[in-house]
Amino acid sequence: MPDRTESESRKLLRRLRDTLAEPGAGQERLDRITHLIADSMRSQVCSIYLFRDDETLELCATEGLKPESVHKTRMRLGEGLVGRVAKTSTPINTANAPAEKGFRYMPETGEEIYSSFLGVPIQRLGEKLGVLVVQSKQARLFSDDEVYALEVVAMVLAEMTELGAFIGEGEALSALHQQPVLYRGATGQEGAAEGRVWLHEPRVVITNPVGDDPKKERARLKEAVDQLRFSVDAMLTMTDGQDKEQSQVLEAYRMFANSRGWMRRMEEDIARGLSAEAAVEKEQSAARARLESVPDPYLRDRLHDLDDLSNRLLRILTGQGADTGAEMPENPILVARNIGPAELLDYGRKLSGIVLEEGSVGSHAAVVARALAIPLVIHAERITTEALNGDAILVDGDQGVVHLRPEETVAAAFRDKIAMQAEAQSRYASLRDLPATAKCGTTVALLMNAGLMADLPSLVGSGAEGVGLFRTELQFLIRAHVPKRGELAEIYAGVLDAAHGKRVVFRTLDIGSDKVLPYMKRVEEPNPAMGWRAIRVALDKPGVMRMQLQALLRAAKGRPLSVMFPFIAEFDEFRAARQMLLDEVKRERQLGHQLPGALEIGAMLETPSLAYAPDAFFELADFVSIGGNDLKQFFFAADRENEQVRRRYDMLNASFLTFIRRIVERCGEARTDLSFCGEDAGRPIEALCLAALGLRTLSMRPASIGPVKHLIRRIDLTELRGVIDRECASGVTNVRAGVMGWLSKQDI
Ligand code: PEP
Ligand code: MG
Repeated sequence: MPDRTESESRKLLRRLRDTLAEPGAGQERLDRITHLIADSMRSQVCSIYLFRDDETLELCATEGLKPESVHKTRMRLGEGLVGRVAKTSTPINTANAPAEKGFRYMPETGEEIYSSFLGVPIQRLGEKLGVLVVQSKQARLFSDDEVYALEVVAMVLAEMTELGAFIGEGEALSALHQQPVLYRGATGQEGAAEGRVWLHEPRVVITNPVGDDPKKERARLKEAVDQLRFSVDAMLTMTDGQDKEQSQVLEAYRMFANSRGWMRRMEEDIARGLSAEAAVEKEQSAARARLESVPDPYLRDRLHDLDDLSNRLLRILTGQGADTGAEMPENPILVARNIGPAELLDYGRKLSGIVLEEGSVGSHAAVVARALAIPLVIHAERITTEALNGDAILVDGDQGVVHLRPEETVAAAFRDKIAMQAEAQSRYASLRDLPATAKCGTTVALLMNAGLMADLPSLVGSGAEGVGLFRTELQFLIRAHVPKRGELAEIYAGVLDAAHGKRVVFRTLDIGSDKVLPYMKRVEEPNPAMGWRAIRVALDKPGVMRMQLQALLRAAKGRPLSVMFPFIAEFDEFRAARQMLLDEVKRERQLGHQLPGALEIGAMLETPSLAYAPDAFFELADFVSIGGNDLKQFFFAADRENEQVRRRYDMLNASFLTFIRRIVERCGEARTDLSFCGEDAGRPIEALCLAALGLRTLSMRPASIGPVKHLIRRIDLTELRGVIDRECASGVTNVRAGVMGWLSKQDI
């Protein structure tokens, strides 16, 4: 890098900083900046375009173009050269702008006489803020160093924009982090909540992007990197290679922390005038930009590691820890890129809602949020760059929508919705101790799904008759190591204690697919949902399931015990799993341990194949429980994790109902109890239809028990069965419309 440009860009940055330090309103500052850049880069034009909204850029300041065009000239993302820079987040450098693809002539600016064009994106950690442009009459390409210098200036501008340097009288920009923003994500857990933002990892704020003394900045960077290396080494020593997965991540951290290329790039940034923290952030931005275009999951993970490492480094440099000392607001709504299940459990029920940028319906965080019944919205893209601690926020888990800093009218409508839900819940509370007996006299047992001790208090509050599905994998997911038998036995005993004699159906470990244990060796599979999961893992590697079965038998302490095996696809699997349990019973007896007072062994029907198993299967199983989430995904071949298809098919599809009816018949013929424990059991209309088809046990999230019971008590299931049968016979694809039509005439 030639010395001349090096000192030029530093000089430019210093002038920029001095300009920013001078008092003045937002517009005045922007004007001064464009003047300064044009002057320093010896170009006739310098313009700053900033985003008005997600799609529109506006000329906010210019030196050289007609002043009347400021705040008038606008372009859409992707339109013209400026729009292209913004869209692609890459600079355009050309000696002949009018000949460039996409060039747009804007007469109001007098632009056509400028031949050279250099535009660079103004962005901060991947957040697009605008475009910085210089133009000159002379047809020339800008040198690499000039491009670099302008990029660095753009970065400082982005940093200052973030700090609100351009807001004030004569407002150039709409104030950042003050406008209402709507996020359309996806539902992770239903429910609505109003509260204040609590950032899981508050953003590091850089107040000094420009470095005065490169030597000093280099020394600061080196010291921080040394500290970082030291802490990564210490973490590695602590894990001592026991935890392979974690060690791998730390090894990757160490690799980056020792990476000469990373260090060299940051030192170059410092040489060009940035402070140590701005240099770290510049490289972090570059890594994020790469992250967006890398399809390979392994590489993406590594770039994520680098991003995390940069965050650590920034925290060391700025002294801003994750714990900023900020007080948690009332009704905190946690906002994060992602969060692990154990961290989420640490927050526990303190949270009113959760909003994540990443995550999936089956992610561990979603599983925990569901267990704690905290509304969760996932895929709220970029919310962590926009939200500030303490911002007002509304989470609509039913619609997968988040309103950040909502308008008062939106907030008022939202509050009405919450109030209505609360009112309905209190109405349902009066039904708590009444049975779900329909007008025709049929009674349906309503049980709840659970997975953590934290769920158990709902057993009393919801009026559930027991736990129809206890997902045992949650206890495994929230730990860094495989839990010990004694520990598990204690937890299971605690669950039975809390149930006070009500039935609890323990489902053995359902891991694999979306539920990957942090300490389990990850097996890369092309299609994990149909891969080596649940009972398949347990039968191939029986050690953990044996231990779990022993823990369950011991936890019962003479009380009745119900165990069911997940994801049984054929009779032999059930037979083998059941035998394993009976072997453990024998062993416990030989050891002289107390045995459960009664033992029920069931299977989950989650693949269509099991519905066609031999009669002997239905006769041998003490009960069958339909795992509707998986069954539906395999019946319709629609991935339950894939937002594009997961809502495409409906449980009230006539083919699916015909299929359910067949399962009911088969269980009826064998006199085997049948229940349904997928999410659909908790949706009132779906639950009614399941009951009408003959299901006598439904297991659902606790909050659904009230609404489902209320509806069942008000209708005649035999009549509804008639409606469904007639609808199916009429050839409709889906019976929902017919069922809703009939329901609208009932007194509900
Ligand atoms: C199901 O598949 O419906 C089910 C209850 O199990 P899980 O959601 O835990 O896979
Ligand atoms: Mg399942």
